[in-house]
Amino acid sequence: MPPKRFFADVTFSKDGSPNEVSLTGDEFNHAKNVLRLSAGDEVTLLDGSGTEYSAIIARAEKSRFLLHITGERRSDKEPKSDVYLLVGALKGDKTELVVQKAVELGVSRIGVFSSRYCSAYMNENKLERLNRVSKEAAKQCLRAAAPEIVYFDRFEDALRSAEAYPCKLFACEFAEKSERRMEETCAPAALVVGSEGGFAEEEFALAKQCGFAAMSLGKRILRAETAAIAFLSVALYALGELG
Ligand code: SAH
Repeated sequence: MPPKRFFADVTFSKDGSPNEVSLTGDEFNHAKNVLRLSAGDEVTLLDGSGTEYSAIIARAEKSRFLLHITGERRSDKEPKSDVYLLVGALKGDKTELVVQKAVELGVSRIGVFSSRYCSAYMNENKLERLNRVSKEAAKQCLRAAAPEIVYFDRFEDALRSAEAYPCKLFACEFAEKSERRMEETCAPAALVVGSEGGFAEEEFALAKQCGFAAMSLGKRILRAETAAIAFLSVALYALGELG
């Protein structure tokens, strides 16, 4: 069994060697109470920078493990292309599903937005939960970084957050055909997918003003979560990240 993976803050002393790391909170509880790890066990630590650290649990305390780092290496599992997924807030646990699949497929950043026909709501707890799902998915698929999920109350702010992305693609359910060839997707790329209610004409017009190209995902209307996963898959494939 490969060592279990945990996210933790890794700091370095003046000579560049990593300091002892403490594993606390949810990661500690999971390690201790679910995985039953204890002093002497080997683990892999991730600090979100793309580096993986080998570590040994040096000491078990009441509410934390102290770990000693024994080695480090650059992960080869992180995507080379930066792809930003912007998706409308979905009902039930559908946003969680999209986050989980997007992280597995190799997304770099996720924004969840509210829009005119969006009927799901977001709050601090839900956002925290989405970030936990991202971390769990990252660990499960052996990534070394968990994409952060941010929330935009206004659709316009979500669009503006992608300003610096040279390739901006908008999955538009009322587009007859794509304005760009999917095969020509370049990175960094920002992809927009609507919620169950879809987009209003004005929202599409705003996206066009912000430099987004309308993309069709075929003749059928896909459910929002299907559209998000399919769109991301074809874009990442075009960028050489899948296969
Ligand atoms: N309620 C809308 C459908 C929304 S589908 C209606 O009845 O028309 C949810 C989102 O998935 C859309 O906003 C769009 O971003 C994406 N989507 C679904 N099917 C699509 C398609 N064929 N082409 C492009 N985008 C699509």
